[in-house]
Amino acid sequence: MASDRPSIVMCRPTHFGVQYEINPWMQGQIGLARNNVAMEQWNRLHEILADLTDVSVIEGAPALPDMCFVANAGLVLNDRFVPSVFRFPQRAPEAPLYTEWFLEADYEIVELDGEDTFEGEGDVLLATELPSGQTPWFWAGYGIRSSLESYRSLTEKLGIEVVPLRLVDQRFYHLDTCMYPLPGGRLVYYPAAFDEVSLNEIRRRVPSDKIIEVSETDATRFSCNTVRVEDTLVTNFASSQLQDSLAKWGYEVRTTPVDEFVLAGGAAKCLCLIGNQKFDPPKDGKIESPISHTHIHLRGHLLDSGLMNRLFDTITDGGGTFRVEQFTVGQRHDQVSTSSVLVAAPNAERLDLITNRLQPLGAVIASEPTDARLESVGQEGVSPQSFYSTTIYPTDVRVDGDWIRASGQRMDAVIVIDQTSGSPSARCSLIRDLQCGERVVCGVDGVRAKRPLTRHGDGDFAFMSAGVSSERRVELSVEELAWDMRRIRTRNGRIVFVAGPVVIHTGAGPHLSKIIRLGFVDALLTGNALPTHDIELNLFGTSLGVDLARGVAVHGGHQHHIKAINRIRAAGSIQAAVEQGIVTAGVMYDCVKQDVEYVLAGSIRDDGPLPDTIMDLCQAQAAYSQAIDGADMIVMLSTMLHAIGTGNMTPAGVRLICVDISPSVVTKLADRGSIESTGIVTDVGLFLNLLARRLAEEA
Ligand code: NAD
Repeated sequence: MASDRPSIVMCRPTHFGVQYEINPWMQGQIGLARNNVAMEQWNRLHEILADLTDVSVIEGAPALPDMCFVANAGLVLNDRFVPSVFRFPQRAPEAPLYTEWFLEADYEIVELDGEDTFEGEGDVLLATELPSGQTPWFWAGYGIRSSLESYRSLTEKLGIEVVPLRLVDQRFYHLDTCMYPLPGGRLVYYPAAFDEVSLNEIRRRVPSDKIIEVSETDATRFSCNTVRVEDTLVTNFASSQLQDSLAKWGYEVRTTPVDEFVLAGGAAKCLCLIGNQKFDPPKDGKIESPISHTHIHLRGHLLDSGLMNRLFDTITDGGGTFRVEQFTVGQRHDQVSTSSVLVAAPNAERLDLITNRLQPLGAVIASEPTDARLESVGQEGVSPQSFYSTTIYPTDVRVDGDWIRASGQRMDAVIVIDQTSGSPSARCSLIRDLQCGERVVCGVDGVRAKRPLTRHGDGDFAFMSAGVSSERRVELSVEELAWDMRRIRTRNGRIVFVAGPVVIHTGAGPHLSKIIRLGFVDALLTGNALPTHDIELNLFGTSLGVDLARGVAVHGGHQHHIKAINRIRAAGSIQAAVEQGIVTAGVMYDCVKQDVEYVLAGSIRDDGPLPDTIMDLCQAQAAYSQAIDGADMIVMLSTMLHAIGTGNMTPAGVRLICVDISPSVVTKLADRGSIESTGIVTDVGLFLNLLARRLAEEA
């Protein structure tokens, strides 16, 4: 395992102390680190290392208490020094001082492009002396201090592959606090400091017999912050278990306390920089960085709507980093703000995933207009993996230089481009409906989804805004809804109701019937239960065995609904039962009489079922989708299952009203990101009673 001895650079902690807080370790420690103790500990570390190898010392500078953490000075590879670009202004003045020292020590200075943060060997560790066939790479931490963009530049400048690993625990803000590579492709690290994608990348590159995962106790005592000189590992702490594991790999661990520096968030490795890292660039060509970036533009009420925060969270949750390049705040309440943001991701695939999630927030990808990338379906009902996943917003796709609008907009679908006859067309398709040879849009290039700009548009539905109304606001919400419904009816628009059996159980069936008779319902989407209990009520006076007039359970009433189902099955259908005079009133009766389309979608809970219930779910979804086609408004009443099912297939622009007693159900629907959705948390019986009265009053 012997390798070239590292030559180490250290910086004397003459001015060390905790004087500000830029990491969790410093919190509450200002003024508490003892400089004399720190100096003793540093001298001891220096002595141990100087016994093992060459150590050069930089003198610390006044007013730069963290300068002793020289690992963050920059990075050395093949006698070239890449200076850091510090994230925090408190440390920024260190950079020119270090650079001067390395220049004087005959290193070539190589600066990264741009101003993206880069904290040197703190975040970038060389995986070297790898098994034959593997080319060395840098493990590189990002997400807390260093940015992904700096690593793009690093690959370009040094010609070495950079493997980005996202750090997710603020305590382990630099990669060298939670990982160190060892020769032969071995690795010691603390898994909880990384996100799942990064852990997969580590495990993909390093076989399990070459990995030591340290415990939280080891990690929080900086056992990963270790300096290696040949077979000796020098560190602040290592548990006996960790020492045993390392001994099996042939390493001797020498612990020397540097806990005074831990108060500032650093330990042994942070106090050292390797001054002679070497790497033989591959002879067979240039290494391209997989790190990808794009610019996005936003326009709207970015601050008061909390959109910027959601945007930033979406980028970081997706494993990306960002830089706001421009932000202009609207000067008056009616003026919009604009912003441009650079988004970077570890590779093109993850950038696609992130931008895919940003588009529903209204982000416009600022790439040069290119045609959408199309891939062919190779297996029926299976999409090419990098497909563009649709949102509820109207979406344009660029094909042969022209933007074309996709038809059948819905969420969670793919876009199929048909270029077989005449001008090309685009349509949303469910994955299960894909046929071999169909061309599917992949990635986000050449795709733009249009999100409405503000909540006060000039459209017909400006009266109500997105949000959830509480009980107190029900009357007002009903009044607004009735206003909208009348306007839609006046212009022969389409209103669809989605309802669950609670409508009948709460005694609100007659109110819904009235709304149907008033002509405000063009289609009713429901399951097996609502018609069952509606017909049970008509035939037996009960709903689920409860006498609704008296509010008491009827003896033997539990059989009523199943008997009702049997009567309809005998008649052949609900319509036949109405025509034969078996069913004489109720919601379904009025649907038949008023010629209102109804679709009954089956579920595993269903008794019977009624002959009209569609038990094939794919068929039922298709029938729902057809029924909502062209709808201006969908009113969803007390059914989580059917409301969410319908919501998923509804494009933006359709007014959604969700009424449920459970705030979580209402919020789920209202949260789709559509400005046209309104949630009303209330009892559906009360709601329908109010709505029917209101509509009748002004009919
Ligand atoms: P669901 O759980 O999807 O939705 C019921 C919703 O009603 C819930 O969100 C709940 O919060 C809400 N709710 C309850 N009381 C309310 C009130 N007073 N006011 C307002 N909201 C209220 O259940 P679902 O839609 O009733 O049924 C799911 C599926 O099961 C449907 O397909 C249905 O047809 C089927 N089902 C069949 C039978 C049957 O065949 N006998 C019986 C029940 C349900």
